[in-house]
Formats: sequence, C-alpha cells, structure tokens
Amino acid sequence: MDGCMEARMAVTIQEIPCPRCGEGVEIFLRDGALAADSVCENCGCVLPAGARV
Ligand SMILES: [Zn+2]
Repeated sequence: MDGCMEARMAVTIQEIPCPRCGEGVEIFLRDGALAADSVCENCGCVLPAGARV
C-alpha cells in the first residue's frame, strides 16, 4: 500500500495521558494535531482542537 497522502488525511483515535491528572484521554488525531476538542472525563481538562501532541 502506498497511501501516504491518504494516511496523512486519516483521523486516528489515540489515548494520551491527561496533562493535568495523568488519566487516559481519547483524542482524535489528524496529521499530528487534534481534529476535535477532547475532554478528560476525570478532571474536565480540555485538549483543544488543533493542539499538537
Ligand atoms: Zn484529567
């Protein structure tokens, strides 16, 4: 498969530790940046869309 361009556009779901409490937060990642706001269910910390992780 040589889908490099398609892979760059694809949204992937990833879990990262919350920057505030360390709890796992599901994020939608596109091209290395958040595709949508994600909220930590444990402490309410918001990871804004467009942020790089
Ligand atoms: Zn948190």
